[in-house]
Amino acid sequence: MKTKSGSHLPWINRLKARFPGLFRNISRWGFGCEVGWDGLITRLCERLDALALPDLRVVQVKEKFGTLRFYVTGGNDEVSRLIRQAEAESSETCEWCGSLAELRKSDRGYFLTLCDSCFGKWSSNGWVMAPPSDQK
Ligand SMILES: [Zn+2]
Repeated sequence: MKTKSGSHLPWINRLKARFPGLFRNISRWGFGCEVGWDGLITRLCERLDALALPDLRVVQVKEKFGTLRFYVTGGNDEVSRLIRQAEAESSETCEWCGSLAELRKSDRGYFLTLCDSCFGKWSSNGWVMAPPSDQK
C-alpha cells in the first residue's frame, strides 16, 4: 500500500516547478495526498495562477476524511470558489489513480475516495472494509 505523499515525489515536484509563485512557501510536509488527484490539482493551480494575485500562496494540500483540502493565504472569493469546486471534484476522483470514484469508509473509520479497482487493493491489503452502502 502506498503511503501518503512527501514533497519528494515527482508529480509534486512538477507541480511546484510549474507554479513556483503559488508554492513558494509550502513546507516539506505541505503535501498529503496521492497522485490520482494530480490532474484536478493541476487544473485548480492553472486557474489560481491565471488570477495573478501577488499574495496568493498555497499553504497545504492534503486528503482529509477522503476528500481534498486545499489551504491558501492571500485569496479572495473567486479563489475560494475555485477551491470548493476542486474539493468537490475530489469526492468523485480516485485519489490513487484518477478514475471515477466514490467515498469509501473502512471499519476503522478511515475515509478514502477510490475507484472499484483501488478500493479492492485497499481492502485486500489487510484492511477490513465496510460495505459501500455504509458511506457517509
Ligand atoms: Zn483508482
